[in-house]
Amino acid sequence: MKLFAIYGNPVAHSKSPQIHNSAFTALGMPDCVYTRIRLESGEGLVAHFKAARLSGANVTVPFKEDAFAQCDEVHGPANEIKAVNTLVLEGEKVIGYNTDGDGFMASIREFGPIKKALILGAGGTAKAIAVVMKHAGIECHILNRSDKRLSFFKELGIGTSTWHNFDGHGFEMIVNTTSAGLEDDELPAPVDLLNGLLSEAKYAYDVIYNKETPFLSFAMKHGLIMKDGKDMLVCQAVYAFMKFTGRKDFDAVKKIMDRAIEL
Ligand code: NDP
Repeated sequence: MKLFAIYGNPVAHSKSPQIHNSAFTALGMPDCVYTRIRLESGEGLVAHFKAARLSGANVTVPFKEDAFAQCDEVHGPANEIKAVNTLVLEGEKVIGYNTDGDGFMASIREFGPIKKALILGAGGTAKAIAVVMKHAGIECHILNRSDKRLSFFKELGIGTSTWHNFDGHGFEMIVNTTSAGLEDDELPAPVDLLNGLLSEAKYAYDVIYNKETPFLSFAMKHGLIMKDGKDMLVCQAVYAFMKFTGRKDFDAVKKIMDRAIEL
């Protein structure tokens, strides 16, 4: 039996067990089981992973930075993002990866090539997306309500502004990574600022999923092509599943997980 899990707090709402277990079943891996683990603190996360003899895990809020700090090795963009959302037991070592940014990039393939994008927000999700966009050659800029989290992006050479000093133009895609609209009716930036941005843009993306947020409703009024975060959630899970199992068939796994997330 091979055990997999998602670590988080809260974690009861997570769709990860549903989508990973569906893929294990559909792809003929009945010895693999994926469950949820809620921790009070992230302090002993990797020790817990080892003691529970897990083969792989995902890590969600608020433990991604703890996982990054505790892994035996960190591979890929997680090193720059400084957060890990996927743990894999490789030999005796626990290796950390971050598949959030790659999941986002896979989810915008249908938009075609994008040269310039604006990210609203400067939290963990913004970091993952900005790092991977930079690698993909997309010029991106961070716009946040405050300057308290901007140093991470400045150190990577990514442009940053707050609402008060922003004067950027010509962004093809506006991505909301703030939690505005998640549990309230707030827009992620002042309405005049958003009006200017959305009137020039072609695409609006909100990483929040299964909800038409105030941001997406506003973008709809501007006639933009829009997308919520469900596909990003599925795509990051597909990349994690490929790390867990060694499979290379992204499209086949995605098809199964697309169906499973609707169950
Ligand atoms: P963080 O807490 O790390 O960052 C939140 C950011 O939002 C900060 O920059 C904060 O600004 C800003 N913010 C919060 N409230 C407001 C507001 N009312 N108006 C403007 N800005 C605001 O969050 P995460 O990056 O971890 O998560 C952000 C969102 O992404 C969540 O809604 C989460 O559900 C979603 N998500 C989706 C995923 C997917 O696969 N689709 C994956 C991961 C997350 P400040 O710095 O000033 O505090």
